[in-house]
Amino acid sequence: APPVSNALLRHLNPEQLAAVTLPAQPALILAGAGSGKTRVLTTRIAWLLQTGQVSPGGLLAVTFTNKAAKEMMARLTALLPLSVRGMWIGTFHGLCNRLLRAHWKQAGLPQSFQILDASDTVSAVKRVIKAMKLDEERFVPKQVSWFIAACKEEGKRPRDVEALDPHTRQLVTIYAAYEDQCQREGVVDFAELMLRSYELLRDNEALAAHYRQRFRHLLVDEFQDTNRLQYAWLKMLAPPGGGQGVFAVGDDDQSIYGFRGARVGNMSDFEREYRVQTIVKLEHNYRSYGNILDAANGLIARNSRRLGKNLRTEAGPGEPVRVHESVSDHAEAQWLIEEAQLLHRGGLARSEIAVLYRSNAQSRVLESALFNAGIPYRVYGGLRFFERAEVKHALAYLRLLENPHDDTSFLRVVNFPARGIGARSVEQLTDAARASGRSLHQSVGAVTGRAGANLAAFNHLILQLREQTKGLTLREIIKRMLDASGLLDFYRTDKDGQDRIENLEELVNAAEAFVTQEGFGKEAVALPVDELRPEGEEAIGADLLPDAETGEIVSPLAAFLNHASLEAGDNQAQAGSDAVQLMTVHSAKGLEFDAVFITGLEEGLFPHENSLSDADGLEEERRLMYVAITRARKRLYLSFSQTRLLHGQTRYNVKSRFFDELPDAALKWITPRTGFQGATSFTPRQAWQHGSSAGAGFQARKEPAPSKLIPKAVPSHGLTVGKAVFHNRFGEGVVVTLEGSGEDTRAEVNFGRHGRKWLALSVAKLTPID
Ligand code: ATP
Ligand code: MG
Repeated sequence: APPVSNALLRHLNPEQLAAVTLPAQPALILAGAGSGKTRVLTTRIAWLLQTGQVSPGGLLAVTFTNKAAKEMMARLTALLPLSVRGMWIGTFHGLCNRLLRAHWKQAGLPQSFQILDASDTVSAVKRVIKAMKLDEERFVPKQVSWFIAACKEEGKRPRDVEALDPHTRQLVTIYAAYEDQCQREGVVDFAELMLRSYELLRDNEALAAHYRQRFRHLLVDEFQDTNRLQYAWLKMLAPPGGGQGVFAVGDDDQSIYGFRGARVGNMSDFEREYRVQTIVKLEHNYRSYGNILDAANGLIARNSRRLGKNLRTEAGPGEPVRVHESVSDHAEAQWLIEEAQLLHRGGLARSEIAVLYRSNAQSRVLESALFNAGIPYRVYGGLRFFERAEVKHALAYLRLLENPHDDTSFLRVVNFPARGIGARSVEQLTDAARASGRSLHQSVGAVTGRAGANLAAFNHLILQLREQTKGLTLREIIKRMLDASGLLDFYRTDKDGQDRIENLEELVNAAEAFVTQEGFGKEAVALPVDELRPEGEEAIGADLLPDAETGEIVSPLAAFLNHASLEAGDNQAQAGSDAVQLMTVHSAKGLEFDAVFITGLEEGLFPHENSLSDADGLEEERRLMYVAITRARKRLYLSFSQTRLLHGQTRYNVKSRFFDELPDAALKWITPRTGFQGATSFTPRQAWQHGSSAGAGFQARKEPAPSKLIPKAVPSHGLTVGKAVFHNRFGEGVVVTLEGSGEDTRAEVNFGRHGRKWLALSVAKLTPID
């Protein structure tokens, strides 16, 4: 082995050093979060290169996300003065694409094959189903496309699929026809990239031999999240017993893609099939302070299926893990911002502050609070809320309601969802409009035939919707539009549709929050409006008010659309600067930050309700929480909220079960543990003082800016438990519970026939009956 004085190796502990300098043989590094797996992998690449054991072209390193691949290249460039450009470092899909580009002929592809994204894939499947004259109700294009992807990820072509029933047999026929169509059109979908390059190697012995000869070393990060086909692909490039170095790095406790076919079992298969002699365990954590690690260890110990390992640190306990309870998601966001500002003033770069959440839909409230506070932020692993495709589609419809002559919006949605208006018709329409100098909306008559009729129908839809939504509240307008446009129906059948529908519901929430904020009318933010406003009651949101920007008298819809485009565009400029990092826990894998906030720790949200039905699901959620906790270096905040406006309705939450599983000694409740129960609850300000602790490493706290935290004047509602009340929708009832204080006071009322309802007293009109 080379001398340890080697500058590369100086920053490694003995176990890491041993791993980095292993001979070219199969090796498995099985180690917990923050133990230096990625550092070891990267240093090994540098060491192999520096000691001349391999040339830059002779190794292949694969990781999970583009971000991780970039990170790896950055770390490598820091270690060695070397151009990483031409090296085979990337994601599975990226490397497969590269392989197919290089060998398109053998792969049976046209030289300039195109890659279909997820939605292109569905449209392609849909065309096949149409051409086969099959019933789209029975063969929903989205579902058929998942079926095809799942087959491919199992490495199966149509002839390999075992179809035991007529329906599956039909699916397989569609799969075959879809393959023909793709082949004819020279396109490949994501799963095809992987499968096609696997087959390329399998069926071209000479080519495979060439690459086996070439890649003396293969290195895989996040091995626990590989699926069956990816593992088979690796085996094709470096078969067991072939004498190549296969260096796999992983952590079974961080396997979080089981729901997408990842197989932790690949780790034990690898160990067995490759007769792995060396399994390196790293147990020293270099990332986090003791309390954070204790929390992580305590939590993950609850899982039953583990390969078993622990983490320790010499960094000392550090600060306790802070736990915070809020009354609402808005309050959570406000608190978080105050706290993040304090950290920032204390000398922490904003980019060292990460805000993690379980579901994408949670980001909107956070984004909007950050935006309003003028704090630069960046959303990872997803688009900013108003830039997401589904939200943009919805906004385009809304813009057309406001102005049918908005051609950009017209083009965006005229055939979305599909209405049989092809690209050629759209071109014809655009030409006609251009020639006459009129809007697309006005030029529809220029297109003849079926497409012309479809265009006319689209125009009619818009005009009719315009009529129907006159005088409705913004919320009602959006809901009506989502239905009538077919957007909701479309996403209901989409594989990623749940997320998209959630985002569309979030749009309704955003509109509502906007209306309240801008004073367009006192609307309920905390409760579903449907419950509070009897049908037919006058739509209060429809009042006209001056636009905050221009002073122009506009409808709430127009004002909201302005707001949306501002929020989408403007803040982007700040993203390059030092920005707070927002992302889902899934996309935080492998990363680290000085301070981490894990938000929305509520039952049903995290752990997610979809996972609660089986033990495996819950264990995966726990691993996800373990990933989240272990992102933090110095400070960790866990936060939950009593209420949350999500998926279009207010949820009254119970805190996550994870709190019961975390070691008490590592935690510090910075709100009273009992929460805001009864009228004598702490105000947020008291809670702040209660929990404030000037943390080691950060400046002592200054007084928080008071205005946002102190509740406004408390309206007296004069209610007590047991009091009889009258509600103009639900009739007579009896107050069962009172919670919260000030603006956030809520009452649970038993309305007999209507059942028990939670009502926000600042909104619901409850009259006491004597
Ligand atoms: P994860 O499981 O989250 O991907 P990991 O095992 O890949 O974590 P790394 O990201 O490689 O861990 O390392 C965690 C942190 O510890 C990094 O900041 C890394 O630079 C640092 N680190 C690793 N090993 C050492 C060491 N021997 N001395 C000092 N710091 C180290
Ligand atoms: Mg890592």
